[in-house]
Amino acid sequence: QVETLKAKVLEQAQEITRLRSELGGTDAEKHRDLLAAENERLRQEMKACEGELRELQRQQQAPCRDCPHLQEKAGLQEQLSQLQREAEETRAKLVELDLEVQQKTNRLAEVELRLKDSLAERAEEEERLSRRLRDSQETIASLKSQPQQIKYIIKTVEVESAKAKQALCETQSRNQYLQEQVGMQKQVLKEMEQQLQKSQKTEAQLRAQIMMYEAELERAHGQMLEEMQAMEEEKNHAIEEAFSRAQVEMKAVHENLAGVRTNLLTLQPALRTLTHDYNSLKRQVRDFPLLLQETLRSARAEISQAIEEVHSTNRELLRKYRRELQLRKKCHNELVRLKGNIRVFGRVRPITKEDGEGPEAANAVTFDADDDAVLYLLHKGKQVSFELDKVFPPQASQEEVFQEVQALVTSCIDGYNVCIFAYGQTGAGKTYTMEGTAANPGINQRALQLLFSEVRGKAADWDYAITVSAAEIYNEALRDLLGKEPQEKLEIKLCPDGSGQLYVPGLTEFRVQSVEDINKVFEFGHIKRVTECTNLNEHSSRSHALLIVTVRGLDRSTGLRTTGKLNLVDLAGSERVGRSGAEGSRLREAQHINKSLSALGDVIYALRSRQGHVPFRNSKLTYLLQDSLSGDSKTLMMVQVSPAEKNTSETLCSLKFAERVRSVELGPVSRKAELGSWPSQEHLEVLKTLLGDSPGSAAHPGRGHASPSPGQLSSRSASIRRKLQTSG
Ligand code: ADP
Ligand code: MG
Repeated sequence: QVETLKAKVLEQAQEITRLRSELGGTDAEKHRDLLAAENERLRQEMKACEGELRELQRQQQAPCRDCPHLQEKAGLQEQLSQLQREAEETRAKLVELDLEVQQKTNRLAEVELRLKDSLAERAEEEERLSRRLRDSQETIASLKSQPQQIKYIIKTVEVESAKAKQALCETQSRNQYLQEQVGMQKQVLKEMEQQLQKSQKTEAQLRAQIMMYEAELERAHGQMLEEMQAMEEEKNHAIEEAFSRAQVEMKAVHENLAGVRTNLLTLQPALRTLTHDYNSLKRQVRDFPLLLQETLRSARAEISQAIEEVHSTNRELLRKYRRELQLRKKCHNELVRLKGNIRVFGRVRPITKEDGEGPEAANAVTFDADDDAVLYLLHKGKQVSFELDKVFPPQASQEEVFQEVQALVTSCIDGYNVCIFAYGQTGAGKTYTMEGTAANPGINQRALQLLFSEVRGKAADWDYAITVSAAEIYNEALRDLLGKEPQEKLEIKLCPDGSGQLYVPGLTEFRVQSVEDINKVFEFGHIKRVTECTNLNEHSSRSHALLIVTVRGLDRSTGLRTTGKLNLVDLAGSERVGRSGAEGSRLREAQHINKSLSALGDVIYALRSRQGHVPFRNSKLTYLLQDSLSGDSKTLMMVQVSPAEKNTSETLCSLKFAERVRSVELGPVSRKAELGSWPSQEHLEVLKTLLGDSPGSAAHPGRGHASPSPGQLSSRSASIRRKLQTSG
C-alpha cells in the first residue's frame, strides 16, 4: 500500500510539474509584455508620423500661393485627410484593442494569482503528504524493529489509512476540481490567444495599411518635393533669364545713357552757339532787306562795270585776233614761199602689159636709195640724173602720193588758190594719178574727201560752201563738161566788179556736200565726154581736163570771208606729135598742145623767176588759171613718166621740162621788181636778217642749186636795213 501510495504521490508530483509547465504562466506573461512593448513602439511611431505629417502640412501651406499645382495639391491634401481619418479610425480601433488587451491581462493576472494560490496549496499539501510519508516510513521502520509495535502501528496505520484514504479521495476530488479549473483556464487562454492572434493580425493589417499610407505619403511627398524642386528650378531659371536679360538691357540702357550724356555734353555748346547764331541771324534777317538793297546796288554796279570791262576786253581780243589771223596768214605765206610756191614732183608708173615684152619693155629708170628727190634715166646707153622736189617710184601708192599733196589741198580752205597739174606723155599715168580707179581713187576724189572732213572739223566757227566745175580745153576751146550744151565754147572774162578777177560766164557749178555728190558729178562729166567723143582715149590725150573746186568760207564770229580755188588739171599728152608728116587737124591739134604746154612752162618759169611780166594770155589754159597761178597761189607739177625702154626719149623730154621749171632761180633784178607786188617780201627779209646772213640759212626755196653768193645776200640785207631806217 505504501508502495502504491508512494507511486501515486510521485505520479501526482509529476502531474503537478506537467500542469505547471502546461500552464506556462511565464510564457503568457512574456507574450503580454512583448505585446505591450510592441504597442508602445507603435504608439511612438504613430506620434512620429503625426509630427512628420504636421511638418509636411506646414511646409505645404508655406510656399506658392498661385502655383499651377494647387489643384493637385488640394487633391493630395484631401487624400491626406482621408488617410488621416483612416489613421484616426485605426487609432480608435487600436485603443479599443488596447483596452481589451488590458482587460484580458487583468483577467490573466487574476487567473495566475488563483493558479499561484492553488499551486501553493498543492505544494503545502505535498509537503504535508511527504512529511506524513516520511513519518509513516519511520513508523514502518520502527514497527519492523518492534513487530508488536508494528502490528500496532499497522493497526493504527490501518486505522489511519482509512483517514488517508479519505484524504486521498479529497485530494483526488480537489485535483479533479483543479484539473477542471486548469481546463477552463486553458480554454480561456486559448480564446485569449485566439483573440491575441486576431488582434495581432488586425495590427499587422493596420501596420501594413499604415506602411502603405506611409509609402503613399512618402511618394506624394517625394512627388511634391520633385515638383517643388522642378518649379523651383523653373522659377530660378526664369529669374536668372530675366535677370540676365534685364542686365543686358540695363547695360544697353546704360550705354545709351552714356551716349546721350556725351551727346548732351557736346550738344550743349553747339546749342549755345546755335542760339547765338540764331540770334545773330535774327538780327541779320532784320537788317537783311537793307543790306540786300545795298548789296544789289553795289553788285549791279560791279556787274555793269564787269560787263563793260568784258566788252572792252572782247573788243581788244577781237582786234588782236584779227591782227593775229593776218599775221599768221602772212607767216604761212612766207613759209610756203621759202619752201617754194611752185613744186615739181615726178611719178614713175610701173611697167604694164601694154609695154609689151622684150628689150623695148625693159626698165630704164632707177632711183637713189638715199635721196627720194633723185632719179636716173638710162638713155641711149648713158645714165642721166634728174633732181626734182620729190620722186615717186612705181610702187608708191595713191595714198602716199596724196599725203604729199594734202597740205596744198587744205590751204584751199584758208583761201589760197591751188593748181595741181599732171604732165607727161600719153600712157605715163596722168589720168591714173588724178582720177585713179573706182577701187583706188586718185587726187581728185581724195582732195574733195579731205576738204569735206576739214570743213566738218571747222563747222563750229565757219560756214563753208564747196562747189565743183568741170571743163575741157581742146584746140584752145573751153567747154563746160557739166553744162547742158557741152559743144558751146566758153569765154574767159574779167569780173565787172573791177577786182581784176577772171570768170567764165555760163560755166556750171555744182554744190557738193558728200562723196556721193562728187561721184555723181564725175560720172556726169565722164558721160558728157564719152558721148561727145568717138575715141575717148585719143581725145583725152589731146585735151586738158580741168576740175575746179571752189571753197567759200565765212567765219561766223568775225564775219571774215575766204575763197580758195583748187584746180586739178589732167593735161594733154606731152609727146611730140607729127613733127614730120602730120597734116590737117592732126597738125593743128599738135600745134595747140605744144603751144599750151609751152605757154604753161613759160608762165611757171616767169612766176618762179619773179618776172615782171607773166605771159598768162598765151594760152587758154594759163589765162583761165591766171588767178590760181599768181600771187600767193601754190602750184604743183606732177610729171608722169614711163619707165619703159621704148619711151626713154619722151621720158627724157618730160624730165627735162620738169627740171627746167624747177631750177628757175630768183634773180636780184626780178626780186626787186617783185617787192611791190609781193608785200610780204619785206617781212621775209627782216626775218632773214634776224636769222643772220649766213649763206646756208634755211631761207632758200631750192635744194642747194646755185645758192646766192654771200655778197649778194649781204647787199640785199644792207638794202633792207636802209629801207627799215628810212621807214623808221
Ligand atoms: P595717161 O592718162 O597719162 O594717158 P593713164 O593714167 O591712162 O595714162 O595710164 C596708162 C595705164 O597705166 C593705165 O592702164 C593705168 O592704169 C596704168 N598706170 C598708170 N600709172 C600707174 C600706177 N602708178 N600704178 C599702176 N598702174 C598705173
Ligand atoms: Mg589720160
